[in-house]
Amino acid sequence: MKLNLVTQIFISFILAIILGGVFGSSVDFLKPLGDLFLRLIKFIIVPLILSTLVVGVASSSDPKQLGRIGIKTISYYLGTTAIAIIIGLAVAFMLSPGKGVDIPTANLEVPAAAAAEPQSPITTLLNIVPENPFAAMAAGNILQVIFFALFIGLAITFVGEKAQPVYRFFEGFAEVMYRITGIVMKFAPIGILGLLAPIIGQYGLSVLLPLIKVVLAVYIACVLHAIIVYSTAVKVWGGVGPVRFFKGIFPAALVAFSTASSAGTLPVTIRNVNENLGVPNKISSFVLPLGATINMDGTAIYQGVAVVFIAQFYGLDLTLMQLTTVVLTTVLASIGTAGVPGAGMIMLAMVLASVNMPLEGIALIAGIDRVLDMMRTTVNIVGDASAAVVVAGTEKVEDQELGVDSELVAAKQ
Ligand code: ASP
Repeated sequence: MKLNLVTQIFISFILAIILGGVFGSSVDFLKPLGDLFLRLIKFIIVPLILSTLVVGVASSSDPKQLGRIGIKTISYYLGTTAIAIIIGLAVAFMLSPGKGVDIPTANLEVPAAAAAEPQSPITTLLNIVPENPFAAMAAGNILQVIFFALFIGLAITFVGEKAQPVYRFFEGFAEVMYRITGIVMKFAPIGILGLLAPIIGQYGLSVLLPLIKVVLAVYIACVLHAIIVYSTAVKVWGGVGPVRFFKGIFPAALVAFSTASSAGTLPVTIRNVNENLGVPNKISSFVLPLGATINMDGTAIYQGVAVVFIAQFYGLDLTLMQLTTVVLTTVLASIGTAGVPGAGMIMLAMVLASVNMPLEGIALIAGIDRVLDMMRTTVNIVGDASAAVVVAGTEKVEDQELGVDSELVAAKQ
């Protein structure tokens, strides 16, 4: 019997929970398999974004439409992130995770990176423009690669006939990258086992228990956000039923949960969104890499919960003014959060500093960060996928216009 990939991934997920739960940290020997998978998907990211985005922009040949897609995407990202943080705060106030918690604070340390001064928003914006596009690619700076690809794509359209060889090169290259993604995905079930089992082995219930309410608050708020916000958005604007949506993005969600990296999950997200949710490449190739870099709803939820937790732990009251500041800085912080494990915790320093709360609070939950990170990353990428469906729906792009995608779907078989 041949099981499909989603079923295989799901089985390895359950197996990881069982193995980690039963054997504890002795399942560490599986770790290299996880690391191998992570390296394999990371190595696809830059060439995949570059080639698919160039093709996406060059084949749409309508700068007005691109501008519209950009505005819609960014508005959707900002709007859903603001809702996410409000849901996070609300659930946290309901569960009061910081009341009656007993954690000795004497030898807790704030992670060094979290204590560092975060960049100003202007510097962050300027940094989108690469001084050297090849250095940007080598460093894996996704926003700079997006910038470079957008320009090549636009210029190909402006040049016209003479740029056709360049276009065709990127078109072929994009297909090659998709094929590589497909091959790497075959290894996903084993990779996920190798990533997840050691984590579950390491975080036994004993580590989680004192902070179980924080974990619950983050998980509940994340699920609520996905069910309320994404289901409604994909249905109303994208014309896609929530069941189909969540089913379609499920493999990427599991990869995100296991890797805790939106950037690392990106190749899988792109593939799921194109193939399972029928979003044309010209939309997904722009919306998804951008989302993996700036759209972090799960991270916003986590930061909201963390602020309430830390305030309650230290017996501080949050005024309405402070809560408003938290909403605004969290939206900015989640934009500035890189799609890599643990980045959201570092940006939490910026949120805490904005309302003069003790940075030491970060140390209280640093020990369980990975468990929170897995869930917030999952919501981060599901949010990106929902944006792609919404933008595609409102652009009313027909399936026939898929261009490179339809061939890719065929190539997958
Ligand atoms: N790990 C998250 C992500 O990649 C970011 C975070 O730490 O919140 O999406």
